[in-house]
Amino acid sequence: MRTIFVAVDCQNDFMLPSGKLYVPGAETIIPNLEKLTIFAEDNAIQTISTMDWHNANTQEISDKPDFKQTFPPHCLAGTDGAELIKEVAPYCPSVVDWDTGIYTDVHLDIFRGSDELIIRKDKFDLFEGNPFAAKIIQKIQPDVAVVYGVAADVCVNFAAMGLLKKGIRTYIVADAIKALPNCEVNQLVKTWIEAGIRFVLLNENENTGNPFVQAAKTAVGYNIRPYYLLSDVVENH
Ligand SMILES: [Zn+2]
Repeated sequence: MRTIFVAVDCQNDFMLPSGKLYVPGAETIIPNLEKLTIFAEDNAIQTISTMDWHNANTQEISDKPDFKQTFPPHCLAGTDGAELIKEVAPYCPSVVDWDTGIYTDVHLDIFRGSDELIIRKDKFDLFEGNPFAAKIIQKIQPDVAVVYGVAADVCVNFAAMGLLKKGIRTYIVADAIKALPNCEVNQLVKTWIEAGIRFVLLNENENTGNPFVQAAKTAVGYNIRPYYLLSDVVENH
């Protein structure tokens, strides 16, 4: 069983109160993001960190944002705000750019073999925002993907649903995601469960006030196993 961890957009601009497009409360999941990073290192699990990586021509950036399709400037290429928070930052990543890279099959093979991959993207959807993302996932051929990060209702949603559609068994870590304030959590959870996504909880007994944890524990009334522990998901790794 080949398992990958997918850390979605854990960047300063989203994660920190000083960030340009701060997801309120995102800093509260940082200890759990760090746990996932350490778990991946300890268990030699390949980690893909996605990064929003924009420039002045990016479609979603606007001076008059509607906060649905358009947002104020954030994660501009090369800025501090675009950097990953230190708790998830890889030591020696291979970086897959969306705009400057011309990658051959040989490069894609190198990416497949990298334990710490960064995929930069210019759109919400990992698979639309980087022309090489789908090819790399196809090369890696994961059986299982464990997805976490921000924002739950935007880029995490796109990454998880995109992976699921590729036939990969996909888990979202309920206590390592954070949504935008206007997110309809129960509706989003329903969509995920009906699609076939399942939840992982890092801390079964901790009540963090994160609504996704409560939703995962009850699985909103579905007749499924409500959540898994990380050790269940990667036991055969
Ligand atoms: Zn963006």
